[in-house]
Amino acid sequence: MQKVYNPKEVEDRLYKMWLEKKYFHAKIDYSKKPFTIVIPPPNITGQLHMGHALNNTIQDILIRFKRMQGYCTLWLPGTDHASIATEAKIVEKMKEEGLTKEMIGREKFLERAWEWKRVYGGRIIEQLKKLGASCDWDRERFTMDEGLSNAVKEVFVRLYEKGLIYKGERMINWCPTCHTTISDAEVEYEEKKGKLYYIKYPAKDNSYYVVVATTRPETMLGDTAVAVNPNDQRYKHLIGKTVVLPLVNREIPIIADDYVDMEFGTGVVKITPAHDPNDFEIGQRHNLPMVQVIDTKGYMNENAGKYAGQERYAARKNIVKDLKELGLLVKEEDYTHNVGHCYRCSTVIEPLVSKQWFVKMKPLAEPAIRVVKEGKIKFIPERFEKIYFNWMENIKDWCISRQLWWGHRIPAYYCRDCENMMVSREEVKVCSKCGSSNVYQDEDTLDTWFSSALWPFSTLGWPEETEDLKYFYPTDVLVTAYDIIFFWVARMIFSGLEHMGKEPFKYVLIHGIVRDAQGRKMSKSLGNGIDPLEVIEKYGADALRFTLVTGISPGNDTRFHMEKVEANRNFANKIWNAARFMLMNLDIDTSFKPDESKFTFTERWILSRLDTLIREVTENLEKFEIGIAAQKLYDFIWDEFCDWYIEMSKPILYNKEAENNKEVQYVLLTVLTNVLKLLHPFMPFVTEEIYLNLPHDEESLVISKWPEAKCYYSADDIRVVENLIELIKSIRNMKTERNVSPKIKPNIYIQTNDKLMLEQKYLWEVYVKRLAGVGEVLLSEKVPENSISIVLSWGVCYIKLKDIIDIEEELKRLTEEKERLIKEVERSEKLLGNENFVKKAPQKVVDEEKEKYKKYRQILKSVEEQLDRLLKLKRDEIRDEL
Ligand SMILES: [Zn+2]
Ligand SMILES: [Zn+2]
Repeated sequence: MQKVYNPKEVEDRLYKMWLEKKYFHAKIDYSKKPFTIVIPPPNITGQLHMGHALNNTIQDILIRFKRMQGYCTLWLPGTDHASIATEAKIVEKMKEEGLTKEMIGREKFLERAWEWKRVYGGRIIEQLKKLGASCDWDRERFTMDEGLSNAVKEVFVRLYEKGLIYKGERMINWCPTCHTTISDAEVEYEEKKGKLYYIKYPAKDNSYYVVVATTRPETMLGDTAVAVNPNDQRYKHLIGKTVVLPLVNREIPIIADDYVDMEFGTGVVKITPAHDPNDFEIGQRHNLPMVQVIDTKGYMNENAGKYAGQERYAARKNIVKDLKELGLLVKEEDYTHNVGHCYRCSTVIEPLVSKQWFVKMKPLAEPAIRVVKEGKIKFIPERFEKIYFNWMENIKDWCISRQLWWGHRIPAYYCRDCENMMVSREEVKVCSKCGSSNVYQDEDTLDTWFSSALWPFSTLGWPEETEDLKYFYPTDVLVTAYDIIFFWVARMIFSGLEHMGKEPFKYVLIHGIVRDAQGRKMSKSLGNGIDPLEVIEKYGADALRFTLVTGISPGNDTRFHMEKVEANRNFANKIWNAARFMLMNLDIDTSFKPDESKFTFTERWILSRLDTLIREVTENLEKFEIGIAAQKLYDFIWDEFCDWYIEMSKPILYNKEAENNKEVQYVLLTVLTNVLKLLHPFMPFVTEEIYLNLPHDEESLVISKWPEAKCYYSADDIRVVENLIELIKSIRNMKTERNVSPKIKPNIYIQTNDKLMLEQKYLWEVYVKRLAGVGEVLLSEKVPENSISIVLSWGVCYIKLKDIIDIEEELKRLTEEKERLIKEVERSEKLLGNENFVKKAPQKVVDEEKEKYKKYRQILKSVEEQLDRLLKLKRDEIRDEL
């Protein structure tokens, strides 16, 4: 083994070897149970960030664990075409060349997109390999592969034929910058300060008027009614009458609708069915006309009269100004409200009525709610189920058409001659109604999430009935951050139920976000992002992986500290060094059969502890308690194994003549081999490299057998060693606290009723002498005079003071300390007695001085007491000598 562990050299070499040996490839084996995870497909525009690193480390830990447990494991990787994100990148790049989409046309644009995918799409896959991900790369998929595209078409046609996909005029969220619709889940709400404008709408003959309150006066040009609550006594007499819409001079009715909140503003609201989702619904109920006044680019259109052509916010300003001049603006108030923004570009969303494709959600949501209620799918942690139910129970129809080119084109065709619409799996060339060949395909593409919703089965070959699909579906766990539960998880659940008749996974394991050391989100704008690849380059993938998962608990965010990465790099080195040390002293191989009667209590102790560790780590991993498992492994390896057992075993290991020398070698090798296996899913590289250097009988840890607990348990030995460790640690602490030189080896006096410890003293005392630097270990019934005591859980340990300190030296030190403190007290007293200081100095300085004064006096008192004790000790000693 190399003197120093060098992750850079080891990681690339081992990963290549694993790939060559096809360890990650899942070969269907009906004698084994399958265990399947599908990767949340990263966007082809993506670069590995800490969120991916955490997400994929968790998946890799689970997969490696299950692979070692003997499951036929498949971790299916792939990427998402990410229509909106990718299209934006390409449009941006074309802009540099002075080109637009329209200038080059759909076909040329798609050529560029595929080229972009070819060049950059594999980048994140290569980065996942650096992390050590044990995906089955032979099964890598892409959402726009031929097979997956067929699945998309199949689903669209099936749902359309079932009446679950329809085309309709609906209120949609429109992003004027991305120039496409976006789904409800893609709208991010943010509190914004705005104004609430109160506008007077007079009657035609000016005999009455109403005042409406609105945050968006520019939409008033599209008002087709004003509404009041039917129970509102203030306005009852006006229901059914009309008012004149200012600036436009259009007469609109006053209607009554329960939706109107009597408490909001004046209790009268304007109704703009074309630009507000609630107004849209009121409009439907009352059969109101729709007047669109804002276009798809966020500008006022021809219906906006003199404001036509103005940008929506400019128009707002002008409208307010004009209303003021007409005396129709009653007042404006500051107002904070939630404004929807595009999740991609942060532009304020414009609700628009538009002809779009929708998925009817209610019939799909119901079974998806049921499977979670029945526990067929479990969310971990459970609290996310509530959020899921809340979302699913209030779900609206899903707008799936996007005005983009990169993506799955909607398989609907129209006839120009008879307006016939045809939805088809195959390309339509001839109208089914009139026979005309003047047909064209829908220009829009599908929402990216439409294809990723099918990911757990489309990747396995659906709609073909493949072997893979039969064997690996349903998958076992879906590992994801909480931010895409609605985008993705919910849609996979109803899609799996609808098309496969079975839920797509059994568990949804939710993890949090990786934040920076101060708890802030990592972001480009803050510049606080840490590149996982740089961390891997510097400290190795193992250190990064272990840092990401230590201490995590499902659903909660974590903080990323570079110091922890360093500490975990040191952890890898610690194991490396322990293994090197052992190898240098090892002359047995794996065929050695120990004589267990030669085990001493330390061997029985470490084997019992190993057994417990195996049992607990296995159980933790089964329950997805990855953070807890990692911590237990760290503690066992660092403390119990390296710091204690290896230290305790050294004298025998060095003594080749010792009768149990080979038994100790055997135990060291057994414990190390087992902890390497347990740690392998977390730190795959360093563990494999060590394992292959040790005497070993399996080809590789990747495909080795997960350790099994042997129910090896020796309660007495555990207790003796724990008591021993407690004693050694306490003596060491005492020595550090009192600055006792390591050369000084005091006798210790143990007072205890613990029968086991008394009986086995002959066994453990050698360890205390050697590891705590102690002279004789004596038993004592009474308290030795002038001694310090160390209270233990099983007795008391006394050490005579004179054995650990040089009285003269200590007297001199304490006397000097006393003099120094007296000077400080005098100085402080004088200062605080000075009226000028107390009056003129800032209060903070005076308070600090008072605090100092108090502290000096306390320390002085304690030093004086120590001196007194020491002087008494000196007198006693002189008397003893006489
Ligand atoms: Zn946008
Ligand atoms: Zn036709």
